[in-house]
Amino acid sequence: MKYVLIVGDGMADYPVPELDGKTPLQVARKPNMDAIASKGRSGLLRTVPDGMSSGSDTAILSVLGYKPEQLLVGRGALEAAARGIELKGNDVAFRCNIIAEENGILADYSAGHITTKEAVQLIASLKKAFEKPGEIEFFAGLDYRHFLVMRNLRDSSLIECNPPHDVTGAEIEEVLPKAKSEKVEDAVNQLRTIILESKNVLENHPINIARRKAGKRPGNMVWLWGGGEKPSMPTFREKFGLRAAVISAVDLVKGIGTYAGMQVVNVHGATGMYDTNFEGKANAALKALEANDFVFVHVEAPDEAGHERDSGKKIQAIEDLDKRLLGKLIKGLKEPYAIAVLPDHPTPITVGTHTRDPVPFAIRSPFWVADGVQKFDEVSAKAGGFGLVNNESLVGLLVSTGENATSEIHSVR
Ligand SMILES: [Zn+2]
Repeated sequence: MKYVLIVGDGMADYPVPELDGKTPLQVARKPNMDAIASKGRSGLLRTVPDGMSSGSDTAILSVLGYKPEQLLVGRGALEAAARGIELKGNDVAFRCNIIAEENGILADYSAGHITTKEAVQLIASLKKAFEKPGEIEFFAGLDYRHFLVMRNLRDSSLIECNPPHDVTGAEIEEVLPKAKSEKVEDAVNQLRTIILESKNVLENHPINIARRKAGKRPGNMVWLWGGGEKPSMPTFREKFGLRAAVISAVDLVKGIGTYAGMQVVNVHGATGMYDTNFEGKANAALKALEANDFVFVHVEAPDEAGHERDSGKKIQAIEDLDKRLLGKLIKGLKEPYAIAVLPDHPTPITVGTHTRDPVPFAIRSPFWVADGVQKFDEVSAKAGGFGLVNNESLVGLLVSTGENATSEIHSVR
């Protein structure tokens, strides 16, 4: 028995006026998702516990059967893991964005989507200026997304940082990191100093002189946020007794997979955008199932369309996921399998960011009787056999469909 989990990031939505009050899932042609619903069982799943923000980190940990409220994971730590940066018990990894500052304002969280090639040179200069080995270390990542690790800091939850994409246009002095307790005051002062003084290092850097000449925004400051320690969590295999692999273009998801002990499969041409290699992901999933019992395939594109408030792109992303990935994957599956499809959270077109609403899900297993639901969407799933499932592990439900069922299985309803 093989298990397949398909997550279309941000795929769920609200009724959209230009779609005659329908959601993108209701409008999209998606025969494969609909077949999972019509031959399986559906429901609504709450993936964001009360009091937590509706990020993909929280929602995906929930879907995989971890309790995000008990893990206190920072995004920096998850993404660092995907880049191979090792954290010891008390080390805290922060995301270090290269940003554009203009007249004291945080003008652009991505410094005009600065390239990796340019950013690596900026990070090298910051290393020279601020690095203290064993205490403060910089690591280059991709594009505008880099890392700063504070060794032996601990208590990252006492440091309040603003994600730069949430404070674009704000006065930098107003949104710098803050200490919630005296314990972390020194660390917070260091973070604030690095942010403010990074401008001295970067403002007239040759890379930025060249960018300005080309009419591009300079990467003239860094922004530190998303600090977190290495989460201590049981592996997926310890929880469910299954060998698992994860396929995603997104570091956050790969990092969760790394800490969960999954095989992280990199797919050539997987971009996290509309042009991602859907077929390549299907092939990689089939290959991963030769050595694993479980594969988790994540597609970011519908979330991007939600943030762009573009219903056409969202419908296209759902149709591409359905036909080019899911269709190809199902066709290639030789052994008996159970399969689940769902979003991690909604990213409604009319809102432009994540919401906390329960998401529709459908699971098909060779051992289950269908519940009569015909389509996979927000409205159809409400009538499904599972009803509303609160913060329970979707994977627990999925693996309860086969002979590998373990004590993790939760009762339904
Ligand atoms: Zn998103």
